[in-house]
Amino acid sequence: LHGNATSGHMAAEKTLQRSHQLCYWPFMSRDIHAWCEKCHSCQARRTPVPRPQAPMKSIVADKPFQDYFTKYVNLFALPDQRAMTVAKCLFENYVQEHGVPESLLLEHSGEWDDYLNQVALAYNTSTHSSTGFTPFFLTHGREARLPADVMFRCMSGVPRSTPGTPADYAAMLVKKFQSAFTAAALNTHQARLQQKEAYDRHVNHHPYEKGDLVWLHDPTTTRMKLTPHWKGPFEILDCLGATGDETGMNYRIRYLLEPEAKAQVVHYK
Ligand SMILES: [Zn+2]
Repeated sequence: LHGNATSGHMAAEKTLQRSHQLCYWPFMSRDIHAWCEKCHSCQARRTPVPRPQAPMKSIVADKPFQDYFTKYVNLFALPDQRAMTVAKCLFENYVQEHGVPESLLLEHSGEWDDYLNQVALAYNTSTHSSTGFTPFFLTHGREARLPADVMFRCMSGVPRSTPGTPADYAAMLVKKFQSAFTAAALNTHQARLQQKEAYDRHVNHHPYEKGDLVWLHDPTTTRMKLTPHWKGPFEILDCLGATGDETGMNYRIRYLLEPEAKAQVVHYK
């Protein structure tokens, strides 16, 4: 459910939502939150700074082709990034299945190639925090059946059937999409408001105290996309206060995984 090839390292809420579709145990939410909280790869990969949403209206494509509304992602490895190569890939792999896209997201990354399908599947079958639905559901009108589903369904023996005629099925899909799209649009709007709130809270930093454990992000070190963002844990030794007109605080911290390491002074921004 968390940390394997088809699930990826999704956040606790997403892991919980994914798990709820399959099984239940008492204190499930608490257990899953604790599990994800302790997952070292997850902590090290948290995104350092809230980034504003980039406008995604134009058709530009490199690797992830993402639908703006459903958040459905298609990942393709390209030999180069010439317009012809991109267009050919787009037509052969995407248009055949989904039709001509209205909006796509462009992103560069070289390290993904070996994991493209796994990354896309994990992403598309996880509930998206903005829409409240999985991209797979908003695209296909049903959830994907994954290895974990096969495993759990076997035990619970829940049968799955498609009702009535193709026309019945189409009518049901239309109805399902209408309510899902309305809800997704509302959720997306709500998520934007929450993101703004979280950003404002981040700007008003509540100072750490001596003894607190923190993760350190060093934006000056060049990093590959998939290497961790954060190093830690560090212990806060002292709070040195603010410097001049700058926002944020200075702290003296010590890296706990290397007992010999010297304390260092860092700036919280
Ligand atoms: Zn994890």
